[in-house]
Amino acid sequence: MISRHLSICVYCGARDGTDPAYVAAATDLGTAIAAKGWRLVYGAGDVGLMGATARAAQEAGAETFGVIPTHLMDMEVGKRDLSTFVVTETMHERKKVMFMNADVIVVLPGGAGSLDEFFEVLTWKQLGLHNKPIFLLSVKDYWKPLEDLIDHIIAQGFAGPQNRDFFQVVKTVPALLAAMDHG
Ligand code: AMP
Repeated sequence: MISRHLSICVYCGARDGTDPAYVAAATDLGTAIAAKGWRLVYGAGDVGLMGATARAAQEAGAETFGVIPTHLMDMEVGKRDLSTFVVTETMHERKKVMFMNADVIVVLPGGAGSLDEFFEVLTWKQLGLHNKPIFLLSVKDYWKPLEDLIDHIIAQGFAGPQNRDFFQVVKTVPALLAAMDHG
C-alpha cells in the first residue's frame, strides 16, 4: 500500500483540451493530492491542465513543487506562488529535478510534451534505472491510442511483454487512488 507522505509528479497538457472532462480530472487530481496530504510536483506553469491541477492542489492546502525552465516563464506563465518554485536553464534539467523529487508519476491528458515525459520515465524503468509507479490517467479513454501503440510495439517484437507492466492505466481519480492503495 502506498500511504506515506508522497510526492506525486504530474505530467499533463499545457492546454485545456476540448473536453471539459480533462480540466475536471486535473482539478480532481489536485484536490485529491491535497486531501491525501501529498505533495504535487509538476512543471510550474499556470496554463492548461498544469494550472488547473496546481490551483486545485494549492486551494485545498497541498504543498506544491514546480520546476520551469527560464525560457518558458512567459509562455507557460510561471506560477511563482508555489511552495517551492525552481527555475532551471534547460528542459532536461526540468525533467531531472521533477523526477528526482517524485515518488509516483501520473500522466493526465496532454500533448507531445507529456508523451516525451512519459516515454522518458517508461524507458528508464525498462532499463532498470528506477522502479517508481507510473499511472496513465486515461480520462475518457484519452490514452487508448497510446496503449494500442505500445501493444503494437510488443506484438511486433520491439519490446518485451513486461513493458505493459511498467505502467498502469486508470480512468478516474478515484480509480487512481484505489490502484495506489493496492500498489
Ligand atoms: P504538452 O503535453 O505538449 O502540453 O506539454 C506539457 C509540458 O511538457 C509543458 O510544460 C512543456 O513545456 C513540457 N515539455 C515539452 N517537451 C519537454 C521536454 N523535452 N522536456 C521537458 N518538458 C517538456
